Amino acid sequence: NAPLAEIDPEIAQVLDRELDRQRGFLEMIASENFVPVSVLQSQGSVLTNKYAEGYPGRRYYGGCEEVDVAEELAIERAKALFGAKFANVQPHSGATANAAVLHAIARPGDTLLGLSLDQGGHLTHGMKINFSGRLYNIVAYGVDPETSVIDMDEVHRLAVEHKPKVIIAGWSAYPRQLDFARFRAIADEVGALLWVDMAHFAGLVAAGVHPSPVPHAHVVSSTVHKTIGGPRSGFILTNDEDLAKKINTAVFPGQQGGPLMHVIAAKATAFKLAATPEFKERQERVLRGAHIIAERLSQADVAGAGITVRSGGTDVHLVLVDLRNAEIDGKQAEDLLHEIHITVNRNAVPNDPRPPMVTSGLRIGTPALATRGFGDAEFTEVADIIALALQPGADVPALRTRVAALTAAFPLYPDLRH
Ligand code: PLP
Repeated sequence: NAPLAEIDPEIAQVLDRELDRQRGFLEMIASENFVPVSVLQSQGSVLTNKYAEGYPGRRYYGGCEEVDVAEELAIERAKALFGAKFANVQPHSGATANAAVLHAIARPGDTLLGLSLDQGGHLTHGMKINFSGRLYNIVAYGVDPETSVIDMDEVHRLAVEHKPKVIIAGWSAYPRQLDFARFRAIADEVGALLWVDMAHFAGLVAAGVHPSPVPHAHVVSSTVHKTIGGPRSGFILTNDEDLAKKINTAVFPGQQGGPLMHVIAAKATAFKLAATPEFKERQERVLRGAHIIAERLSQADVAGAGITVRSGGTDVHLVLVDLRNAEIDGKQAEDLLHEIHITVNRNAVPNDPRPPMVTSGLRIGTPALATRGFGDAEFTEVADIIALALQPGADVPALRTRVAALTAAFPLYPDLRH
């Protein structure tokens, strides 16, 4: 039982260097966040030792009395946080939650209608070589090429034409709120089930700063590690008792064996924190930060660098930058921002003229920096740094110095060492 640094110095160094990287860079990948130390504690705890196949009170293993308490807490807190009647907190990740949802509500060969990957959808919503694309008949809707907004009339037209079993509303790269009521009306009209994947915006929903899909959808799935800022994992909600039973069976034994009880305990803590006024205040900073970045990057376009913001702004935690008319492409922009110690990811824009490994877009998110403590002043500075970085002839060392001033002012995990 010697410490990690002694047993495996190579891995210990990875942990330390990664901690340094997280401290020294501005993390702006829209799907990432920083978990609180309390969540790290559960995830690094003895609960990782426990097998607990089944559900609380109905396990296939002995010795589950303590992990039962953790899972019950996670379930009750998820239900209360999102106002849902049933919650399954066992999915190991967002993708496995989605696999379980489809396992519960569709049969291989059924038709699914979802947002296409290259327009902002997720792999599990029907990408060709994902299980969803291989097992189901996929019909995809997109965004309007002019406005970058989902055209609900097109969703309606495709639903009437293809009569899908499931309509999927949810996204990985989309800067606007979805019209859940309209999605549900379309689903009802064609006899489909509405599944909302709120993986990205769940934290905003929990804080009440984004409409909730729960009253509209038959099933809602999510991750816990994006805007919620909890452990890397997933969960599923429904208000329908019959669907709840099918979902439980689909997760275990349908998809998974033993649940990750250390992660489930950490989910319980994350849901507890997400119900606090501090969490709401943080999500408000997330939204304002994204708004500030969208606004100031739109002004950069005025300077003539050909940079625009897709859909003209944002009402969530991310901004999609369109570089189709800029000299710099998505890959170069990602690399350049990395050089000044800002981490983002390049992202294809609809009908992208550049290849998928290059792209003409960037996805920039604010959740992790809001967790780090950033407010309007810091997001304004970040926006200005990014705008300058994307112009031809950017002064990289000067911008890196401005980033360093921000990271120094907001220490991350100050007491942590591996
Ligand atoms: N659903 C959506 C909308 C996502 O954006 C993601 C993650 O990128 C997932 C599901 C999958 O989550 P995970 O990476 O935990 O499998």
